[in-house]
Amino acid sequence: MSGFVNWSGVHRCRPAAIHQPHDEAQIARVLAQANADGLRAKVVGAGHSWSEAACTDGHLMNLDRMDAVLDVDHERAQVTVEAGLRLKDLNERLADEGLGMSNLGSISEQSVAGAIATGTHGTGLRFGNLSTMVRALRLMRADGQVQDITQDDGPLFDAARLSLGALGVVTRVTLQCERAFRLRELAVGMPLDDALEQLPYWLDRHEHVKLWWLPHTDRAMFYAFDRTDLPETVGPGTGGPLRDALEVALAQRWGRTEVDLMAEVDHWVNEHLFDAVLKAGARQPRLIALLNALIARLYFIDRQRIGRSDRIFNLAMPPVHREMEYGVPVEEAPGLIRDLRALIERQAMAVNFIVEVRYVAADNLMLSPAYGRDSCQLGAYMAQAPDLDAYFAAFEAMCLNVGGRPHWGKEFRAPSSELKRHLPRLDEFAALRQHLDPGKLFDNGFLRRIFAQHG
Ligand SMILES: Cc1cc2nc3c(=O)[nH]c(=O)nc-3n(C[C@H](O)[C@H](O)[C@H](O)COP(=O)(O)OP(=O)(O)OC[C@H]3O[C@@H](n4cnc5c(N)ncnc54)[C@H](O)[C@@H]3O)c2cc1C
Repeated sequence: MSGFVNWSGVHRCRPAAIHQPHDEAQIARVLAQANADGLRAKVVGAGHSWSEAACTDGHLMNLDRMDAVLDVDHERAQVTVEAGLRLKDLNERLADEGLGMSNLGSISEQSVAGAIATGTHGTGLRFGNLSTMVRALRLMRADGQVQDITQDDGPLFDAARLSLGALGVVTRVTLQCERAFRLRELAVGMPLDDALEQLPYWLDRHEHVKLWWLPHTDRAMFYAFDRTDLPETVGPGTGGPLRDALEVALAQRWGRTEVDLMAEVDHWVNEHLFDAVLKAGARQPRLIALLNALIARLYFIDRQRIGRSDRIFNLAMPPVHREMEYGVPVEEAPGLIRDLRALIERQAMAVNFIVEVRYVAADNLMLSPAYGRDSCQLGAYMAQAPDLDAYFAAFEAMCLNVGGRPHWGKEFRAPSSELKRHLPRLDEFAALRQHLDPGKLFDNGFLRRIFAQHG
């Protein structure tokens, strides 16, 4: 590859050189080369951030060749992996070992180091983001020296687990997992107002809760995931002779389960049908409200599934679109969604993708959106269409107004002065960064935007 383009296609860069090191010695050589050239260095994982976090015009490294599982500690349910391992490969390996991640986001294409660098999260008020599951990591600093960092390192640990790639190259990570488990997914469609009213009740009763709302409709989908010992199935979950026969046929003929098959159907629908609907709406924005109503009818259907945890947490890959997401105080979320709905109507904006509501437990990571408070992660998503910029700007202003903090892997435009106001440990992180990387070897436009106040 001669250039880099992120998943959404919005951010591109032309690095001076691109490397795929096999080991730490090769990474150290790239850093030495960048230092000698007077250029910057950066790592790209899967390139799935909507922000320009992984862009550089200096030396770009990708750690896909550093994807080994180094150690499995069954007693502690911990794994140590090389930083380039993709979450999807980790999930398979964990399943083989009788382990699983306690929580995951919607996809597992990301690299382990890339996912933790931006605070990637799933949903569940009793679960922190993936960075909080890190028990140790190894950081190669600008001078090529490596340092193993654990909770004994205090503030450095709080910074390095969610570091935006600003402190050095993460080469290995130890993650806390748990014994393998199955999840039961309950998906129920309902009017948005009912869903918003009932949110506190569900949050008390389910381990993982999320809500989708499709603008221009009054329909919301409520999702709950809970651990279960019941066997894998799709549908009402009661089995029955037809379903049993189908399961046996799928397993015997094609080595597939119903859950696998359903994921493939979802994948096809997203890739072909949903993508075509989005493109039609982009050409004719006046159709978007109608198309949303159609999608809500076809897609927002009640269902129950039971399956391996990662397969239930993860969704089929969505069509290309853009995302902005803010961590806001939990109690602010219902009001914000009502205000957003009113604003979309008032300004007659045409919004073609869901609003997503997820939850993350409070943590103490310096740059985490959930720092010091339980967080509702509120996401405004949209595929390219004329009102995208206005929609994101309005959404961001509303979130900042209630003390929102951006998801670093998604789009945000808040200036560094705003970020400084809402992130109590931003200054502390900047000081630590100055200490670890005084020559700003790992700097890029993304970090300059965030730390503009810090010189
Ligand atoms: C379709 C889709 C669905 C998504 N779903 C979710 C979701 O459910 N929840 C959620 O929270 N987010 C989600 N995201 C966002 C995604 O999880 C984050 O943006 C994540 O950071 C991407 O991981 P990556 O490996 O692609 O990292 P990249 O985007 O390649 O890089 C992200 C940052 O990590 C740094 N980095 C990467 N590797 C290293 C390393 N070894 N050492 C130091 N720094 C490093 C990069 O320099 C960069 O700053 C989704 C993204 C997409 C495209």
